Amino acid sequence: MNRTRISAPLLTRLLALAALGGALAGCDEWSNVMQTEKVTPQYRAQPDSAKQLMSYISTASSNGKRVRMTGSGHSASDIAITNEVLFTPEKLNQPLNLDRARLKNPADDKLVRVMSGMRIREMNTFLDSKGLAFTNLGGYDGQTIAGVMMTATHGSGLAYGPIADQVQSIQMVVEGGRMVQIEPTNGITNPLTFPRKLEEDSTIPVELIQDDNAFNAARVSFGSMGVIYSVVLKADTKFWLREVRTKVKWSDIKKPGGPLERLLQGLPVNATGPSPEHWELQYTPYADDNGDHTFLITERFRSYTPLPEQPASERGQPGTDFVSGLITVMEMPLAGIIDTFPSLSKVILEQTMTSQADDNYTNVSYKVFHIGVVNDTPAIAIEAAFDYNQTVAAIERSFALSDSLFSQNIVHTSPIAIRFVKKTDALVAMQNGRNSMFMEVIGLKDSKSTQPLLKTYQRTMYQELGARPHWGLDLNLLTSESQLRGLYPKWDLWKTQQRRFNGGTFDGKVTDRLGISVRPR
Ligand SMILES: Cc1cc2nc3c(=O)[nH]c(=O)nc-3n(C[C@H](O)[C@H](O)[C@H](O)COP(=O)(O)OP(=O)(O)OC[C@H]3O[C@@H](n4cnc5c(N)ncnc54)[C@H](O)[C@@H]3O)c2cc1C
Repeated sequence: MNRTRISAPLLTRLLALAALGGALAGCDEWSNVMQTEKVTPQYRAQPDSAKQLMSYISTASSNGKRVRMTGSGHSASDIAITNEVLFTPEKLNQPLNLDRARLKNPADDKLVRVMSGMRIREMNTFLDSKGLAFTNLGGYDGQTIAGVMMTATHGSGLAYGPIADQVQSIQMVVEGGRMVQIEPTNGITNPLTFPRKLEEDSTIPVELIQDDNAFNAARVSFGSMGVIYSVVLKADTKFWLREVRTKVKWSDIKKPGGPLERLLQGLPVNATGPSPEHWELQYTPYADDNGDHTFLITERFRSYTPLPEQPASERGQPGTDFVSGLITVMEMPLAGIIDTFPSLSKVILEQTMTSQADDNYTNVSYKVFHIGVVNDTPAIAIEAAFDYNQTVAAIERSFALSDSLFSQNIVHTSPIAIRFVKKTDALVAMQNGRNSMFMEVIGLKDSKSTQPLLKTYQRTMYQELGARPHWGLDLNLLTSESQLRGLYPKWDLWKTQQRRFNGGTFDGKVTDRLGISVRPR
């Protein structure tokens, strides 16, 4: 009888893998919310503590396995996944104690510490209970805090960078399963009082790294530097928002001295009366009978004194919230109708903006940032980031592009959204180094127009205007490192830092696609 010889190192590896297999769940499929990415990993787990996270990563790492952690799966792109060891965040979802003795300013009551898998929704409730709030937010709250950081998720307002700019300190498990705490060079932690142990578990050593380059690389790194365990955020005092939504024509927005020119010149957006801190647009790319285009301006004014907290049903024109709710369950038939009668798309886009017009809606900040039940519509979205000085060129390019696609029966099923975001130092955030204009193109998931429409927009805006794809709202447009180097001036600095913490364990489908895996498969 032939006997297979097993060497001692191989035996150790097999035993470790068996332990990993015993600890981690078997191979059920994971798919993202938009159903654009699916994977059946070899191992899947929901780590529930720093110790477990480190132990799993250490075992996987010593056995040459890749590890990725998903957020709540709201990215359209492949950035969250590997087919090897996949963690999901459900059990890393609690607020944590912030040990103030470690801080340079122990009295700073705007700092909060949470686990990486806590969703924006739960964080809003938690912050509210402390009289605090996120400084700015995107239009939705189902993502995890680590998930929004990793893709440079953003809201609108040129005084505000991506949400990752609100983060002050990151505890991350890196190659080999060790815990590091990464902060800016002048970070919040006092190195002299830092005890080099994790707050929750004094058996876990933590290495403090206060280094701008490491911090600016780590806070937007699409899961490719390590797995984040916790973050410290700097919150704002709780505030309220007043929202005004007004239908206007493109010719009025872009005219000399108009709101867009004023915004781009750094002036208050309104020449008379108060100007909002948050200003964004929606529009139909299809021309009206006069060759002009309908836009909806959304203005949001901050208030640190309480405003009436109106129910969502009072937002927009009467019945808007109800109809939006109906569309979330009628998406498939609606997509089928538009596919059959593409010209209907023009009417629907106009009507969508009319229904949202509102001269006064007020609520606590996070309920106004959240755009409402429309977020639940089965849809796919891409978003492209431009230098904000390209705003007019990009919008007018979309007019021509949509006409050309319309002639091929490829139509928009939702208005285009435009938001403005302050530049950031995060090295590979879409907003790195330039104040940015974001163009979001959304399509009903089941319309046959959606995929060709979104892909054409991504390709055209990238090739003609150098638009950077949102790391999450992307249909895997980029396929090479040279493209990244062309888009991101700090790319090589990011890569040096990424390699400092990732020896290959945190490679994944995205790093293979981009040709940047440390250990390509
Ligand atoms: C309905 C909807 C509304 C949206 N609204 C906006 C918006 O207003 N503004 C905007 O900019 N974007 C928006 N997005 C995009 C969305 O915010 C991003 O795609 C975001 O990254 C999703 O977060 P998530 O928690 O679902 O993470 P996932 O999509 O699951 O993962 C995103 C990335 O984070 C990494 N990651 C997650 N957890 C960890 C961890 N603990 N450690 C290391 N890496 C981790 C993953 O590996 C992956 O690379 C929206 C998307 C949807 C579906």
